Amino acid sequence: MKAMTCKQLGGACDKIFHANSFDEIAGMSKQHAMEMFQKKDAAHLKAMNDMQELMKKPEAMKAWFENKKREFEAFPEER
Ligand SMILES: [Zn+2]
Repeated sequence: MKAMTCKQLGGACDKIFHANSFDEIAGMSKQHAMEMFQKKDAAHLKAMNDMQELMKKPEAMKAWFENKKREFEAFPEER
């Protein structure tokens, strides 16, 4: 298990997600973002906006994703 915060995943708060793979943790942060979106949390709305800007540039999005994935893989395993 590894842990990453909402912020580290492009979000806006310090909520911690735990997962065994990057795809899993990315899915968790996405779900959390949707929940915060429904609650109209201003900080998360802004973070999602920035994310959507990034998604307009597939190359930049891909680089961001690869970067985060490497970051996740470099983290030590939790005990
Ligand atoms: Zn969050």
